[in-house]
Amino acid sequence: MNIPPPLRIDEKYQDTLLEVRSREDIPDAWKGTPIESFIMAQNFGWPIDSTGKVELLIATCIEFRYSMPVPKMYAYVIRRASGRVIGSEFSVGYTLSQGVRYLIIIGHNDCGMSKVYEKAPLVVQAFVDQGWDQSVAEEYVKKQASRHAISDELEALQTEYIRINQVFRKLIVAPLFVCLHDSRLYIPKWYAEEAKNLPKETKVPADLIKNLP
Ligand SMILES: [Zn+2]
Repeated sequence: MNIPPPLRIDEKYQDTLLEVRSREDIPDAWKGTPIESFIMAQNFGWPIDSTGKVELLIATCIEFRYSMPVPKMYAYVIRRASGRVIGSEFSVGYTLSQGVRYLIIIGHNDCGMSKVYEKAPLVVQAFVDQGWDQSVAEEYVKKQASRHAISDELEALQTEYIRINQVFRKLIVAPLFVCLHDSRLYIPKWYAEEAKNLPKETKVPADLIKNLP
């Protein structure tokens, strides 16, 4: 699998992502938090001090072309296809019970989940090779593909950012986008506007929780 070109020269991302060139480019809401430390570590190689008080959860894709600068005693990590936490709300809740207050969710370009339908026959075959019946594997992949597929990586991050804020009303969520070429983190341009539109009501509708996958 190839490494795609850097985001900063990819036309698709010229108007949709903000570079973090220095500490000043980090939004005020994230300053002085583990979100800021993580961005500074990833983009500028600053060391991370593990205080032993773990307040950060990081969710990102299973993608092997990206690795995080995360020392032990610093963060909980969820890695799932596409990096969305939908379906892993219990894991999020558990980390909250252990003191987590911040969630970083990292999307990336060239995500396999944007090509799930194209890759579905290979995935079916992988299950068949493991002893699954062809028809059972096809049915399973069809169901899971619709749950896992995303059409555009940055839009999927935006939708998930809005959704997470509906489900967890006090968690401070930072949506970031990583360049697979140089592992630099970017801030989506839509973040500033979406952050202003978060729900003010602190109560989460029961139906929203009942309908979680
Ligand atoms: Zn991915």
